[in-house]
Amino acid sequence: MKSNYTRKNIIALPDPQLRRKSARVRTIDAKILQLIDNMIAAALDWEDSRPHEVAVALAAVQIGALERVIIIRKNFDDKENKKFLVLINPEIIKKEGKITLDSEGCLSVKNLYGQVPRHEKVRVRGLDITGREIRLKSPDPFIARILQHEIDHCNGICFVDHIADQQDAFSILREDGELEPYPYEKVVKMGILPDE
Ligand SMILES: [Zn+2]
Repeated sequence: MKSNYTRKNIIALPDPQLRRKSARVRTIDAKILQLIDNMIAAALDWEDSRPHEVAVALAAVQIGALERVIIIRKNFDDKENKKFLVLINPEIIKKEGKITLDSEGCLSVKNLYGQVPRHEKVRVRGLDITGREIRLKSPDPFIARILQHEIDHCNGICFVDHIADQQDAFSILREDGELEPYPYEKVVKMGILPDE
């Protein structure tokens, strides 16, 4: 399906929709397939505008659709490979392994990165676009991190919410593509942290 979605359709914090819970998809109909194509179009257009970043994944809420749908890039190392894995109604069945800190960003939080604690392994299930069940078992820590980040979006949780009181967890993407520590007061001033 064609889509006229662009990066302008991606909503960003502090848009309150990003803290709302998405609804389960009941029927994978033309509307949902169009939504998926819109998500892919918006993610790839965002990537075109970002020289140092890859559009690794997106949740439907990020284009303002409160449906439990996520897309994850099939090959993060190859920008030319524009294929995405689609998961509908994704859920974490089990979190396993150590909890580790690593750098995380988000298409809905411009230029800001944070050190977020995540489980190294997860078991996830969801549906593909034909409605068949997909199970992902213990993928690598990076994929596990992405899955936790995107499934959080379906539950109205953004990565900054996990580290909202961490003074030293944030960094900012410089124009040369390097990350630089970002003072906590400036993060607070951005108005993107949760209320309490
Ligand atoms: Zn995100």
